[in-house]
Amino acid sequence: PRAHYGVLPRPCRALVLLNPQSGAGRALEDFQAVVQPMLAEADIATTVFVTERPHHAHEKVRDEDLSQWDTLVVMAGDGLLYEVVNGLMERLDWEDTMKKPLCILPGGSGNALAASINHYAGNDHVAKKKLLTNCTFILCKGLHTQMDLVSLSTASGKRLFSFLGFGWGFISDVDIDSEKYRRLGNARFTLGTLQCLAKLRVYQGRLALPAGTDAPGALPSDSLLVPLCQPVPPHWTVVPEEEFVSVYAIYQSHLGTNLLMAPAAQLHDGCIHLFYLKAGISRVALLKIFLAMARGTHLDLNCPHLHYVPVRAFRLEPRAAAGIMTVDGEALACEPVQGQIHARLCRVLSG
Ligand code: ADP
Ligand code: MG
Repeated sequence: PRAHYGVLPRPCRALVLLNPQSGAGRALEDFQAVVQPMLAEADIATTVFVTERPHHAHEKVRDEDLSQWDTLVVMAGDGLLYEVVNGLMERLDWEDTMKKPLCILPGGSGNALAASINHYAGNDHVAKKKLLTNCTFILCKGLHTQMDLVSLSTASGKRLFSFLGFGWGFISDVDIDSEKYRRLGNARFTLGTLQCLAKLRVYQGRLALPAGTDAPGALPSDSLLVPLCQPVPPHWTVVPEEEFVSVYAIYQSHLGTNLLMAPAAQLHDGCIHLFYLKAGISRVALLKIFLAMARGTHLDLNCPHLHYVPVRAFRLEPRAAAGIMTVDGEALACEPVQGQIHARLCRVLSG
């Protein structure tokens, strides 16, 4: 059904939030050279807000009069969109605010949502300037649709909203360790993977999931979780393994431009695609999985250490505060965390 599609008005007023430090540091130049001429043709007027520091975009959208804008465009990596989503969710009028179409233009080194949207649109797998051109073209067309968000709550009382994924262990280590290679663009993840393989370690914790897959819409989604200080509901199951190399919950197809982690994922499938890697996997097997992810064929390897479960909620309780957790590629202190999907909570420009 296409009923949930909307289209941007013409002329269109776009607020562009741009991180000049994203990726190789060329977001502003690329915007002026590639994006602006295309948008001008499509009758989309832009006002560029260049961020000066972390959290700047968060504050901007939290306090902004949004009636001036038809769309909020993020020209950066996934990290800046994460700020924008959380800034919008902090507003008292969040329910209305989340109807404002968001758009991601890949300007960073981690452009997972842009790669996912390019994939959902049926475009060829591309990166760099070609991916930017494809995403700009999607903005020019102006079609927007709903996207799921995951609400995460932590033992220390944080409430976060995530559009891409939550992780712990190996994959999160690669993400954060490789930030120093941001200027290499997407290649940072390949280099980071090889480096983290050398110091491969095991993380101990408990992972709990609701039993079975609930019929979509059967329950109001809030009813899936109980407070973290209480045991999980009786119909949940605790995964028997307690030693992991990585746990990763992803809700888009791509983890990076060359990492097709959840080939079945869609913008609003109401599903968290949960992967976990059990301890005991060899470095070679781990490397094979990451290489296969370029084409999304890692599950075909039938690696006994790799598990995949589609769920609507999860709880992860690390035994000790060991390792890095990440939300949408941004680091989070390691602590108990649980999350559940909120289907169709926001809107994005998509093919
Ligand atoms: P990348 O994909 O290269 O990581 P992101 O756009 O995801 O790029 O940005 C990474 C981080 O940079 C985010 O956490 C964001 O808060 C921060 N940031 C935003 N603007 C600036 C700035 N002007 N200087 C430094 N960091 C910034
Ligand atoms: Mg980032």
